[in-house]
Amino acid sequence: MAGLEDLYKEIVLDHYRSPRNRGELESPPAKHAEGFNPLCGDEVHVYVQVDDGVVSDVAIAGQGCSISQASASMMSAAIKGKSVDEVDELTTAVKAMMSIHEQSLDDDDDSGVLPDPPDVELGDLEALKGVVQFPVRIKCATLGWNTLSEALST
Ligand code: ZN
Repeated sequence: MAGLEDLYKEIVLDHYRSPRNRGELESPPAKHAEGFNPLCGDEVHVYVQVDDGVVSDVAIAGQGCSISQASASMMSAAIKGKSVDEVDELTTAVKAMMSIHEQSLDDDDDSGVLPDPPDVELGDLEALKGVVQFPVRIKCATLGWNTLSEALST
């Protein structure tokens, strides 16, 4: 549906033009990780402040293509105020959404068995689906999420 695709593009562009939660947090106490995507030259720094198991603040720094930066911005907006458990679920759901596309691109046979992704409301994050039509962009779109997982596991 063209209408939906346009909407997706608009959401991604909006986050690229006006990135949310841009900046840095003092680390420590904030958790911090840096991610690189050498295929595209993207760099994402993720800072997360966790208080009582809740992501109370998040900041994103770095530079790179529109997809990597928009995805990190969307991620920051989506995880702020959520519990670490909810963030884990969301991360799993987003990566599942990406990998489903990856598989369907690799293989015309769509009867492959995939684990059910967690039943999580993705909201605007659904817009990233529009991105992953382009396989080379998938690493750009997942960079922020992988870096987030790394930061949370420190
Ligand atoms: Zn990129």
